[in-house]
Amino acid sequence: MEFKDFLKKSLEDIKSKNLYRQRIVLSKDTVNFSSNDYLGLRDNQKTKEKLLKNIDNLDLGSGASVLVSGYHPVQQELEDFIANFKQTESCVVVGSGYMANVGLLQAITNEDDVIFSDELNHASIIDGIRLSKAKKVIYRHLDLEDLEDKIKAVNVKGKKFIITDGVFSMEGDIAPLDKIVEIADKYDAVLIVDDAHGTGITGEGRGTLNHFGITPKDNIIQVGTLSKAVGSYGAFICGSKLLVDFLVNKMRSIIFTTGLSPIQNFISLENFKLLSKEDYRRVDVLEKAKYLYNGLKSVGIEINFHNTPILSYVVGSEEKALKIRDKLLENNIFIQAIRPPTVPKGTSRLRITVSHKNSYKEIDRLLEIISNI
Ligand SMILES: *Cc1c(COP(=O)(O)O)cnc(C)c1O
Repeated sequence: MEFKDFLKKSLEDIKSKNLYRQRIVLSKDTVNFSSNDYLGLRDNQKTKEKLLKNIDNLDLGSGASVLVSGYHPVQQELEDFIANFKQTESCVVVGSGYMANVGLLQAITNEDDVIFSDELNHASIIDGIRLSKAKKVIYRHLDLEDLEDKIKAVNVKGKKFIITDGVFSMEGDIAPLDKIVEIADKYDAVLIVDDAHGTGITGEGRGTLNHFGITPKDNIIQVGTLSKAVGSYGAFICGSKLLVDFLVNKMRSIIFTTGLSPIQNFISLENFKLLSKEDYRRVDVLEKAKYLYNGLKSVGIEINFHNTPILSYVVGSEEKALKIRDKLLENNIFIQAIRPPTVPKGTSRLRITVSHKNSYKEIDRLLEIISNI
C-alpha cells in the first residue's frame, strides 16, 4: 500500500468509529471545563509580574542536556523546593510527565523484574512499561485483593514494583495508598505513585501520600507534573538521594534531551510557591466541584464524586459523547469528549474538570444547558 493511502485509510477508519480528533483553539469567551489548570495558576498575574522583573537574569533556553551544560540555578532551586514540599530527600525535574514515566520505568527495571500496574493507569505509564524489559501484571482498578493475589502468585526473580496514579486522570478517584503501601511493604515491592492530578489538590496540596498521612520512605517514588495544578510545564520525580543520583546517571529521558528553559522553571517555581502559601484556590475549587456534583445530581445526572476537581460523566457511546460536546460548544461551553483509547471501550465520557477560575455563574449555566440537552 502506498504511504498516502495508508494515511487516508487509517483516518477514514478512525472517522467511521467516531474516534476522529482535531485540535481546536478555544475562543477567549468560551467557558472551559476541560483544563487541568485546577487552581487557575496558568495565567496568574503575580508570577507574570515576577517574571518580568527577573527576565534579565533568565536565559530563554537551557542550551544543553542537564548533564552537559543545561543545568541552571533556577532548576536546582525548583528541585530543592519540591523535595522540601514533598518531604523527600531529593527531587529531579524532567521535561514532562510523559518523559518522567517513560524514562523512569525503563531506567529502574530489568528483565527479571515485575511491574504490577492498575488497569486504568495513564498512557505514559503503559508506554514506560512497554519500553522496560520487565514483565507486566495488570490488576483490576483499585482492587487490592486482585493486586495481592497477583503479587502472591507471580514468581519474581528480580525486583517488584507497584505503580498507580494517585488521582486517576479520567475518573478522578483516589488510589487507596494506605493499603497499597502495606502490600508493597509486605511483599518487598517499590511503590511508584504518579500524582499528576494529586499535586496541588490532595493532602492539602502536598499529594496523595500526604492525604493518607504516609511519610515518604525509600521504597516509595513520587512522580508529578508541573503542567496541571502548578500551571506550568515540566515534571518531577521525588525520592531518596540515591534514587535521584541513579536516575541522573541512567534515565534516558534526562540524559538525551535538552533541559527545560530557565524561564519555564522560574514559572514552575513561582507558581509552586503560590500553591504552597495560598490555600484558598484549592479550597475554592473543591467547593465548586462539590457544587457542580450536587447540581448534576439535581438535574438527574448521577456520577461519582471523589473530592477532586475531576467529574467523569460516562455516557457510553462515542457518538453520544460527541453530540453532547458539540451541543455544549454551540452554547460556548467546552467539555471535551474523551473516547478510546484514552478510556476503555463503551465508557466514552464528558470529563468535566473544574478550575478555581470557573465562577458559580458559569457552573449554573453549564447545569442549565446540560439538563436541556
Ligand atoms: C497528564 C498526565 C501525565 C503526563 O504529564 P505531562 O506533564 O502532561 O506530560 C502523566 N501521568 C498522569 C497520570 C497524567 O494525568
